[in-house]
Amino acid sequence: MSIDLEALYIDLHRHPELSFQETRTAGVVTRNLEQLGIEFEEGIGRTGVAAVIRNGAGPVVWLRADMDGLPVEERTALPYASTARGIDPSGQDVPVMHACGHDMHVTALLGALERLQATTDAWSGTVVAVFQPAEEYGAGSEAMIADGVLDRFPRPDIVLGQHLTPLPAGLIGVRSGTQMAASDGLTVTLLGRGGHGSRPHATIDPVVMAAATVMRLQTVVSREVDPREMAVVTVGSIHAGLKNNIIPAEAKLELSLRYTDEPARERIMAKVERVVRAEALASGAEEPPVIAVQHSLPPTINDVDATARLVSAFERSFGEDAVIDPGMFTGSEDVSWFARRGGAPLVFWFWGGVDPQVYAAAAAGGTIDEDIPTNHSPFFAPVLHPTIERGVENLVVAAREFLSAS
Ligand code: ZN
Ligand code: ZN
Repeated sequence: MSIDLEALYIDLHRHPELSFQETRTAGVVTRNLEQLGIEFEEGIGRTGVAAVIRNGAGPVVWLRADMDGLPVEERTALPYASTARGIDPSGQDVPVMHACGHDMHVTALLGALERLQATTDAWSGTVVAVFQPAEEYGAGSEAMIADGVLDRFPRPDIVLGQHLTPLPAGLIGVRSGTQMAASDGLTVTLLGRGGHGSRPHATIDPVVMAAATVMRLQTVVSREVDPREMAVVTVGSIHAGLKNNIIPAEAKLELSLRYTDEPARERIMAKVERVVRAEALASGAEEPPVIAVQHSLPPTINDVDATARLVSAFERSFGEDAVIDPGMFTGSEDVSWFARRGGAPLVFWFWGGVDPQVYAAAAAGGTIDEDIPTNHSPFFAPVLHPTIERGVENLVVAAREFLSAS
């Protein structure tokens, strides 16, 4: 059999599912694996699937794709645009879209498995393919690891993965060292004392405390971090109070923090905590604020030696102009848990999905930010070709580079 990859992609694109709800997607994956005659296990970390091609002695290469969509209403006007809806964790009915390209990741990995399975006489070793849930929660890879994926399958000698990005189709972006930032999501609850809006002196006003805290947090990066270093402190949500004449008892802030490495994380976390506690003290709070880490993602660090090998393999296959260093991305990923917990190096690269002519016109006009929709945009719409084919080839070239030749 031969998988119709375009039909597969369109089917996945039409039927996106929210994080940890990827049951239909996992079903599409397992149906294709069955038809290819590839051994797999499903339901790992709730909805994850892992597959293995055992082909004699040699290195164990892990290839990873993520499967989840996002609560975004698609506005691409494509004939195969998603009209799907889902129920988010708060119980709300929301639109769902593959706005991050994970449908392309799944398509490319299935296409690569078919190719590797058809060419087993040309290589030896083991290929493990991981179809991961809930990347957008930063929780799916840890869920699969907690469910034993590293013990149920041969452990990796290297972990490889790729992400679709708004570069011209045909281009690969990969960077040695830190490719993506580490991030933490924090919830800060500021505790005051509620009361009547006409009697502020009898209260400890958490609204003012929150306002001062938000402003003071802006100085963490601007005044305390070396300007040559990348760091972000964003307060993305602030909630307090229900009515104009009631001073509430507490205020809640949600923060997103980004940095390049672990020492930076420790330094910036300590600074954020100091500011939050000090502003509460300055407000006369009777109880210290409560700081909770909602999620924590490590930096995505590409192994230097493995990246150099992979870059030359890509250049040999696609030409020297086809590979660029895109710089570090301030987004974050949970792919590196497989490498960290598995004790193996990681290489994670980006591949382009934008029509090269459209991209060149935007670049010439200086309108890339306006005209080229990024991941998570309701207009995110990779061109099908050659994005699908290149997604497959990238994985095959990468896997073959680290497998043994037979
Ligand atoms: Zn995403
Ligand atoms: Zn993504």
